[in-house]
Amino acid sequence: MEAIWIYQFRLIVIGDSTVGKSCLLRRFTEGNFSDVSDPTVGVDFFARLVEIEPGKRVKLQLWDTAGQERFRSITRSYYRNSVGGLLVFDITNRRSFEHVQDWVEEAKMHVHPFQIVFLLVGHKCDLESKRQVTRDEAEKMASTCGMKYIEASAKNAVSVEESFTILTQEIYWRLKKGDISIQEGWEGIKSGFVPNVVHSSEEAVKPGRRCSC
Ligand code: GDP
Ligand code: MG
Repeated sequence: MEAIWIYQFRLIVIGDSTVGKSCLLRRFTEGNFSDVSDPTVGVDFFARLVEIEPGKRVKLQLWDTAGQERFRSITRSYYRNSVGGLLVFDITNRRSFEHVQDWVEEAKMHVHPFQIVFLLVGHKCDLESKRQVTRDEAEKMASTCGMKYIEASAKNAVSVEESFTILTQEIYWRLKKGDISIQEGWEGIKSGFVPNVVHSSEEAVKPGRRCSC
């Protein structure tokens, strides 16, 4: 049976190279981890369904930067057509943390006039003995940038589900409140297939029919 979802959210994963972005995506979508990670990622997007409320599912379309993670090499459309993102640094790599603010600036500059909801992820928390960034300073940075903070490990499957779920919930909440709205010609959020329900947005679909997205 075809999966039924009420919305599709397009999310991006950004941060310095080698912080573990591709591994996080692979853990979340395929449930596995490989120590040998190919820096040139063949596929550039992943997808997964998330249950947002009992019986209500959101399809996440997840885009990987596929080896383009140098500043200014990521295209404008990558940011503009996304509603949310994980901003990842490696807790054992101080420089990747120092670049968080640069990533935020870069995203802000490109995304205007839309907005992206970010979650800051302190990654590789399995390597506690090699930690170079304290949880406290990371939380302060997140708060300064208006984000939530979580520590995760793709290797040990710690808080990977939570990272994506928290971000999805936050976007869903903002959508319900009206802070974010679906817009024609914007790929960030799309309405999906909803049997026997017409929802209030402009892109609502008729009962039992699939929209053109
Ligand atoms: P990307 O360049 O940000 O996409 O990083 P990758 O996902 O390719 O991972 C870079 C390196 O970090 C690889 O050698 C991975 O095996 C390693 N790595 C990724 N996630 C974790 C993790 O959670 N813990 C540890 N210890 N290593 C990780
Ligand atoms: Mg990668």
